[in-house]
Amino acid sequence: MPKVSRPLPRPVVRLRPGREKSVFHRHPWIFSGAVAAWPDGLEDGELAAVAAADGRHLGYAYVNRRCSIAARLVAFGETDPRAAIRESLARAVALRRALFDPRRTNAVRLVNGEGDALPGLVADQYADTLALQISTLGMERLKPLVLETLVELTQPRAIYEKSDVAARYEEGLTDFVGLLYGRDFGPLVIIENGLRFHADIKRGQKTGLFLDQRDMRALVEELSAGRRVLNGFAYTGGFSVYAKRGGAARVVSADSSGGALQLARGNCALNGFPVAEEDFIEADMFAYLRAIEAAAFDFIILDPPAFARKREDALRAGRAYKDLNRLALAKIAPGGLILTCSCSHFVDEKLFGQVVFQAAAEAGRNVRILHRHRQALDHPVSVFHPEGGYLKSLLLSVD
Ligand code: SAH
Repeated sequence: MPKVSRPLPRPVVRLRPGREKSVFHRHPWIFSGAVAAWPDGLEDGELAAVAAADGRHLGYAYVNRRCSIAARLVAFGETDPRAAIRESLARAVALRRALFDPRRTNAVRLVNGEGDALPGLVADQYADTLALQISTLGMERLKPLVLETLVELTQPRAIYEKSDVAARYEEGLTDFVGLLYGRDFGPLVIIENGLRFHADIKRGQKTGLFLDQRDMRALVEELSAGRRVLNGFAYTGGFSVYAKRGGAARVVSADSSGGALQLARGNCALNGFPVAEEDFIEADMFAYLRAIEAAAFDFIILDPPAFARKREDALRAGRAYKDLNRLALAKIAPGGLILTCSCSHFVDEKLFGQVVFQAAAEAGRNVRILHRHRQALDHPVSVFHPEGGYLKSLLLSVD
């Protein structure tokens, strides 16, 4: 398949003794402290071979010496790294084709970084348009190969790059946002589980639809019949639309952003649901939960933005999650449900469990966990790279 055959990268990054273990276990990251010697003349962003201290060949990685993760493997063993990238892309696309029927769900994460053996690359498909995000210098250099392969595999109408993540600055890159392939386009309508949603790849935060919560939206639909549902941090109303289709007695969408609520109204209307003004509340969720009467809702969804963006924030974020959950637990009707989520990478499952424990103790409610969830199916996490998990949700039953 290669159009131009290129020689395999020859410079060799040699690891310190013992540091080859994680690579043997297919962990793609090499920290700067694991490297014994960098080859002469190797430029940051280039591909290089990786070898153990005793010279054994381990695979191929792209490098960036200015980062603490100084190299990321794209191929293990002898496979040509460019061929490996094409194979990983093909495997990633094939997995999503096997998981989703595009007549029912046509917005999916096609490539999930390390989870698909493609560090630094995220690609989402929205109907026939792709959104690409590149977070590393090495992947930036591989962009032409990635683009060519994705075009071959998916024949998209357009590919739009939305690389505006903080990680790029650590890599020595700046933001890039713009059309990479195909014809310019405007806001799209996608379908998810047969529901319709506006997707604005160019302007939306993560395009307006968080794909990683798809399974939880479906669960909310299943559990909403007859319940009064509060969708906190509603953003574009994903959970609200599902709750409505599930037959909720009432759905209140609350968000601190008036613009987000406007999009939520739009998504409700797009699916033919009536839009009552009093069901869209512009408020800070903490203040709103304090203000509402007890037992006003039977089902509360808490899906806030990441409260911890850095490791140092984890403790402070834990406190914010606890306050939020305590307020919801104090107000939920007896027998009610709470779906509580955290997408903070640095608040792990254990800490999040402790947060909910503490919140329940302080609220004086008996709480049972009915369900635990991580990311949706199209956000795979490699067993060799557990760092790829970030989202966690608990479905709680409150006596
Ligand atoms: N649950 C949403 C995603 C949430 S994104 C979904 O399923 O699509 C986070 C949202 O929280 C944003 O819309 C933001 O405006 C809102 N937000 C952030 N801080 C808030 C606060 N303190 N109170 C209410 N909304 C808040």
